[in-house]
Amino acid sequence: QEEANLAARTRDDLRCPVVVIMGHVDTGKTKLLDKIRKTNVQEGEAGGITQQIGATYFEKSTLLTQTAKLNETEKFELTLPGMLVIDTPGHESFTNLRSRGSSLCDVAILVVDLMHGLEQQTIESLHMLRKRGTPFVIALNKVDRCYNWVTCKDSPIRDALKVQSDGTLQEFRSRASDAKVQLQEQGVNSNIYWEMGDDDWTNSDFVPIVPTSAITGEGVQDILLLLCQISERKLWRQLMWCANLQCTVLEVKAIDGLGMTVDCLVVNGYLREGDKAVFCTLDGPIVAEIRGLLTPPPSREMRIKSEYIHHKEIKGALGVKVIGNGLEKVMAGTPVMVVGPDDEVEDIKAEVMSDLTRLQKKLSTD
Ligand code: GDP
Repeated sequence: QEEANLAARTRDDLRCPVVVIMGHVDTGKTKLLDKIRKTNVQEGEAGGITQQIGATYFEKSTLLTQTAKLNETEKFELTLPGMLVIDTPGHESFTNLRSRGSSLCDVAILVVDLMHGLEQQTIESLHMLRKRGTPFVIALNKVDRCYNWVTCKDSPIRDALKVQSDGTLQEFRSRASDAKVQLQEQGVNSNIYWEMGDDDWTNSDFVPIVPTSAITGEGVQDILLLLCQISERKLWRQLMWCANLQCTVLEVKAIDGLGMTVDCLVVNGYLREGDKAVFCTLDGPIVAEIRGLLTPPPSREMRIKSEYIHHKEIKGALGVKVIGNGLEKVMAGTPVMVVGPDDEVEDIKAEVMSDLTRLQKKLSTD
């Protein structure tokens, strides 16, 4: 009860959960992200979905519209201010982010190909998530490839399963059950999410499975709503907004006219123009003044190539492109810290490096 009261009081202060999509190559991570962005959104009217640096931001109202059909029965009251989904699933160069991504996100979607079952990178991701204690859901993707699948575009998955023939259902059930056995072999208890008992939901090690199609959209509403539910019910403490800067480098890249830029994810706190920030490079920590904080323009129509909006201040959770001098060797996946008025630069440098060492230790034992 006390928990519930506290939760009610702090509801207004929740930040967006950061979601990452992981899994083996070709399981459909990129398509799923695409589909999540477009479900129930008319072509060209992607209202409430903003492309950010390294992430896509979904407003609360968008989450509500995108899950409206399913929520007619679920009746879930959404209090999250929105959701931030990291955009890196397609980058195979992001092998590191697969592991680092799992430590910077609040909740993950692990995509498994229904036709192939568990594959190498899926198993790796599984163990990383487990080790970090990051909650995740399994998207058992490509259900539309079951023989004779009848498409129910973008509908809740249970509605779609209702209209399938016995043969199709049988194939689906048998493949889903194979996946469950394979998960069990990895020490992971799981079940199709609506078949989970109350005990399973309270067991934090139990993993819900959501059958999806990233092409025809069945189950995408389910994934979104489930992520919202898990975030609010299990992660609200962690999602209470906090002014301490928590910032991670997603990518370092050269941009015409801007030089080397560092794409960062600010999860908590603020980054401000003029801040003295400490970044990690292979040669050790460096201090650089933040000369610019850029985000893409808010709507697609306005998008002109290489045009950005400049900000004086960024509040997490948000993706932002940072400009500064000497950022060439900054490493992706490393933390960023700001030197405050009362801080000693050397202390902050040491702190950043110890953070990094901890991260590397974790990675080397994965
Ligand atoms: P990624 O490597 O995990 O990002 O996988 P992609 O999103 O690039 O998808 C790999 C291939 O699988 C592409 O040819 C997709 O069109 C296909 N694919 C992805 N999701 C689905 C799905 O739900 N159903 C079907 N039939 N094909 C899919």
